[in-house]
Amino acid sequence: MKEKKKLSLGAWIFIGLAAGIVLGAILWAAMGAEAANDLATKYIKPFGDIFVNLLKFIVVPIVLLSIMDGVISLGDIGKVGKIGWKTVVYFLATTAIACVIGLIVANLFKGSFPILEMAEDAAYEAKSSNVVDTIKGIFPSNLISPLLDSTMLQVIVISLFFGCGIIVAGEKGKIAGDVVSSFNEVTQRVMGFIIKVSPIGVFCLMTWVVTNQGPKILGSLALVLLCAYIGYILHTVLVYSMSVKIFAGMSPMAFFKGIFPAAIFAFTSTSSVATLPVSKECCDKMGVDPDVSSFVLPLGATINMDGTAIYQCVGAIFLAKCVGVDLTLVQMLMIVLTATLASIGTAGVSGAGMIMLAMVLESVGIDPTYIGLIYGIDRLFDMGRTTLNVVGDASCAICVNKWETADLKQKA
Ligand code: ASP
Repeated sequence: MKEKKKLSLGAWIFIGLAAGIVLGAILWAAMGAEAANDLATKYIKPFGDIFVNLLKFIVVPIVLLSIMDGVISLGDIGKVGKIGWKTVVYFLATTAIACVIGLIVANLFKGSFPILEMAEDAAYEAKSSNVVDTIKGIFPSNLISPLLDSTMLQVIVISLFFGCGIIVAGEKGKIAGDVVSSFNEVTQRVMGFIIKVSPIGVFCLMTWVVTNQGPKILGSLALVLLCAYIGYILHTVLVYSMSVKIFAGMSPMAFFKGIFPAAIFAFTSTSSVATLPVSKECCDKMGVDPDVSSFVLPLGATINMDGTAIYQCVGAIFLAKCVGVDLTLVQMLMIVLTATLASIGTAGVSGAGMIMLAMVLESVGIDPTYIGLIYGIDRLFDMGRTTLNVVGDASCAICVNKWETADLKQKA
């Protein structure tokens, strides 16, 4: 018997998304807004909630372990010397710019984002916007409560401290480092299981969002999607074409043409890690030294996520508006900080950036449960953000390659 071709996770997510919208719209039209919302809230949403709870459950171990693991691998970069630091500085600088672009675009669109009625039901305790209090609040007074309460900035501080501790401990810290990286791997697998059931979560949450808000919510979702894509495009045009031009003297058109196959692969696979072989081939064809590309690209697929950073900023501003919270400047700076760190912790696999959005939301006092509102269309965000992540890694490879050859020439 011929084996049936299995549908990919992406296809199932789209089926879940479409089925949720259709069912939601049918219930809404057939039963009227109130009865449809009642039914969906009682019987369909709880299954979506299970999914969101699973996301919330995995976010603390993921952040704790992946950032610690990231710091430990940065320690190894120290051994790689100058090329390592140039790469990391490029990654961090472009990610911080990505956050700023994301925030500016989202703020321009903010006026058109909706304030949803359910917002009052679960208004989160507004966090203090006093700078000194905020800084004070970042440092934990004990090890356990930040983990229990998902106080994300404190969890990050714990990760950074322990990650640095492990590096500095040298030989004696090696076992701890191995334990962290092993647990990190295990946690990533658990996250993989959770992402596998996401089509069901998408279906339930989408049905509920449509019955709860009426089909007009689809317009708002399209708007926030558009906003993220404008951010992605701006970042590509402003940052990548300028950096390859200025730092590597390469024509942006030649760069985009060269990286195009990897960009398409990233767009469809939504995984930077899966795209690695293709992006390495593209970079090598563009003349990057294979030693440089085989260092910069895998590191980039692990810690450099500009698209994810833009998405997290846009997502945070959108959800804040939906729940009626006006973010202060300090909170926006907090978003830049957490989204930059989140990009280090985000794994280069499908859907990982959305889990890290939970951390960004927690850091500014917004209940991550609201991710449910945009989760249904996360795949659409993910396609664009992964493309940007991959193109960003390649632009870094091109620039670092140029700097290295210049260095070698100088030495010669
Ligand atoms: N899918 C993205 C990547 O692989 C990560 C994310 O979900 O933001 O780069």
